[in-house]
Amino acid sequence: MSRVVYPGTFDPITNGHLDIIQRAMSLFDEVIIAVAQGQHKQTLFSLEQRLQMIETIIQGWPGESCVSVRGFDCLLVDFCQQHQVKIILRGLRAVSDFEYEFQLSGMNKNLHPEIETLFLPATEKNHFISSSLVKEVCRMHGDIDNFVPANVKAELLRKLR
Ligand code: ADP
Repeated sequence: MSRVVYPGTFDPITNGHLDIIQRAMSLFDEVIIAVAQGQHKQTLFSLEQRLQMIETIIQGWPGESCVSVRGFDCLLVDFCQQHQVKIILRGLRAVSDFEYEFQLSGMNKNLHPEIETLFLPATEKNHFISSSLVKEVCRMHGDIDNFVPANVKAELLRKLR
């Protein structure tokens, strides 16, 4: 059985993240969305809020039973070991993502050589979407309908306006 972890801060989850998750579901038997507590980043939403938003979205998806959402506050490689996962999935948008992602995958490989990182390129229509830009656009009263699902938009409006 193939199992993958898709980690991130997801503050909040966007259509770009969801595209990666849906594509991962067609490639792996089980996808674990690992939501980082993210103490190094000042998150807009608490871990509980970020988990709840993702759970609301995936409820009712076909193949829903193959996806789970979990928070973590430890080394990602330790989370992978706890869940018997050997593959970390990351999305790549632009060359600018590559440098950080390459370094991160090298560090993880060094910490746990048996765990591999795989990358999926962002779908063209999503390559410019990031959680931080969506928050910025929302804060400035821009239209975010094309970037996040309705429940995430509602939470963003509640927080930022
Ligand atoms: P992190 O703080 O770990 O970078 P993010 O929530 O920003 O967490 O991103 C999680 C993962 O999703 C990263 O691999 C990131 O490159 C990827 N990602 C973010 N936005 C998109 C997008 N629009 N399309 C594809 N992948 C994306």
